[in-house]
Amino acid sequence: MISEDNKYTQYLNGRKFRPESLMMSYGYRPELSQGAIKSPIFQTSTFVFDSAEHGKAFFELAYGLREKEEKEEMGLIYSRLNNPDLEILENRLCLWDEAEDAAVFASGMAATSTALLALLNPGDVILHSEPIYGGSDYYVKNILKKFGITAVGFNANLPVEEVEKIIQEKNIGGNLAMIFIETPANPTNHLVDIQACAELAKKYSRADKKVLVMVDNTFLGPVFQHPLKHGADLIVYSATKFIGGHSDLIAGACLGSAELMKQVKGMRTFSGSMASPWDGWMMMRSLETLKIRMERMAQNAAVVADFLAKHPKVERMHYLGMLDDKPQQKAIFEKQCLSAGSMISFDIQGGEAEAFKFLNSLKLIKLAVSLGGTESLAEHPASMTHSDIIPADRTVMGIGENMVRLSIGVEHPEDIIADIEQALAAVEIGVMAV
Ligand SMILES: *Cc1c(COP(=O)(O)O)cnc(C)c1O
Repeated sequence: MISEDNKYTQYLNGRKFRPESLMMSYGYRPELSQGAIKSPIFQTSTFVFDSAEHGKAFFELAYGLREKEEKEEMGLIYSRLNNPDLEILENRLCLWDEAEDAAVFASGMAATSTALLALLNPGDVILHSEPIYGGSDYYVKNILKKFGITAVGFNANLPVEEVEKIIQEKNIGGNLAMIFIETPANPTNHLVDIQACAELAKKYSRADKKVLVMVDNTFLGPVFQHPLKHGADLIVYSATKFIGGHSDLIAGACLGSAELMKQVKGMRTFSGSMASPWDGWMMMRSLETLKIRMERMAQNAAVVADFLAKHPKVERMHYLGMLDDKPQQKAIFEKQCLSAGSMISFDIQGGEAEAFKFLNSLKLIKLAVSLGGTESLAEHPASMTHSDIIPADRTVMGIGENMVRLSIGVEHPEDIIADIEQALAAVEIGVMAV
């Protein structure tokens, strides 16, 4: 966490600067780095102590042997525990979500798995929305099981009253330890009501055990959705996506209260799942343009979605800007989302063959998984990102063979549309037109 002195840079005469105004400077003191305007890459494994007494004091804090004294700062020890590039980055990430503390990781999966291991115990039940990211799905169902933790899923578009019925029917209320949700869900863009989940968690919390709500906020955050404000306890990110934003690094982050993050950071120290100084530095560079990138990508996506929705070869849209026919989802959108974002899924007329023809015909838009980078990407969830889900479950989740997922980038929207238009023209919908 940041020293008090540095915190003042967030304010001017009591007025608080917005996060985008602070991404270039917050938490960094040029006078400690020869006046360099940018934080150097502290590409070092270890740090020299001023004296043996300092080294002892730092370790006492690192291992929690005593409480921090007033104004005492945790010194730098070793880059698995702390590093300036990671600390400055974490301070900056806190600003967007108004979190007390943050930790950055070597990947989104490292963030999620470390947080789960830190906060769950044998015998616990984790209730999670479905679909969630494939790696998270595997982790909660197969890895946590080895530690005696049970995963119970619920369909992301179920109203929360129905979710509570699952708790009662399966009689898991007593062991419920966490509700883990991904909203919007990938690739269907189904929304889960964060506030309603927080209320449900509260209802099943006991004096000695708080049921935690953790939100994978990769798709809209940290600019367009702030789960902590709606009662969530923790946020996880794949920073590989929008935060990194240029499809050139793998990283993750977890944010929450100082108390919970102490446990998460402790687990990070012992699992060694932190990000490297270089990736930390790269993410700081990316954060400077985070808002402007996400806004432009969302603007582009709105134009592209309009075009797709009117196209005769497009059967159905799954886009947050088009929820008029789904009032329940629209109400959740209005409560917790600040933008429809830049992820569009759509069902093309036909099946896998038509979807593949479309994907193979794209020129400007690249055929690749991942999302949230500056370039537009397209993929086929049923055979790629979500291929390990059994087909019957995929159908229940609404992921058809004819679904295509687009991540819209910062290119000129007319160029993106021109590419989509010619790729759709290449798709022959043979016998349909009788
Ligand atoms: C990509 C992704 C992850 C996993 O992140 P990695 O950085 O690839 O480990 C988790 N959740 C969501 C929603 C994702 O899109």
